[in-house]
Amino acid sequence: MKRVLITGAAGFIGSHLCDRFLKEGYHVTGMDNLLTGALKNIEHLFPDARFDFYHHDVTKYVHVPGDLDYILHFASPASPIDYLKMPIQTLKVGSLGTHNLLGLAKSKASRILIASTSEVYGDPLIHPQKEDYWGNVNPIGPRGVYDESKRFMEAITMAYHRYHGLEARIVRIFNTYGPRMRIEDGRALPAFMAQALRGEGLTVYGDGSQTRSFCYVDDLVEGIYRLLLSDYSLPVNIGNPDEITIMQLAKEIIQLVGNPKAFIDYRELPEDDPKVRQPDITLARRLLGWEPKVVRSEGLVHTLEYFRKELNK
Ligand code: UDP
Repeated sequence: MKRVLITGAAGFIGSHLCDRFLKEGYHVTGMDNLLTGALKNIEHLFPDARFDFYHHDVTKYVHVPGDLDYILHFASPASPIDYLKMPIQTLKVGSLGTHNLLGLAKSKASRILIASTSEVYGDPLIHPQKEDYWGNVNPIGPRGVYDESKRFMEAITMAYHRYHGLEARIVRIFNTYGPRMRIEDGRALPAFMAQALRGEGLTVYGDGSQTRSFCYVDDLVEGIYRLLLSDYSLPVNIGNPDEITIMQLAKEIIQLVGNPKAFIDYRELPEDDPKVRQPDITLARRLLGWEPKVVRSEGLVHTLEYFRKELNK
């Protein structure tokens, strides 16, 4: 049986990856320090003998006994509010954490896939974003702690690949949504859903004309799975190119939730907020035969079901 180590296993994307690899017949070893992850996301996996879990912070030396075929490094605070609150941890998990996991991968001759991000493109001057775009990042702005941590992560991973011949995969993840997002993580989609369900104002930052492109988590996981098993070592964008304004997202959520009390509550636009974002997925299409399948109207319904249950708990 092949074995995969997933860091950030108790997080939104990490927990979906655990589900997927177990479904594919792997032994899954999860690791998380539960800083932003939650055990409730993986508690259904504990009865499975093919799953084990380490409550561990990957910025400290990582020891895992036994063979490891694959390592997926998904541990990190990932929402703007989280990395504003935890700037040092965010920098450490992308740098020290990645270094530890690369060392582990080298010692066990594992293939490693690291979770990079569309944030490496910063506030992009090229649209849509292709993998060969170097980005427009403010290193000392509020988002710099995340952006630079992920850029360093890519750099050190490529160095291990080139210098040590380590097998590496780099996924650049664009905005993703679905069940197990944290209601209070501050991101637009969970915030709007919770606000609409509670009949509060939807906090649209600025005039809401900034754009994002939202990918349903199942599509993302499929792309990551294919990338891991591919033989391509350079970064690959995985995301849904269906781009909308944040105002349009707020309106769609208000309509879907159907709470007559919900309204738009304009707030100040945060510093360095990217104005546009859309993945160019030509490479993923060609290399992996992958493209997103779940349209937003469908993905939002599944996600809303999850948030309704969470808020009624
Ligand atoms: N946003 C918003 N209201 C919120 C949270 C976010 O209008 O309550 C905006 C934010 O300014 C950004 C977009 O929605 O332009 C997406 O923000 P998010 O935090 O979801 O992720 P980002 O793509 O910026 O990392």
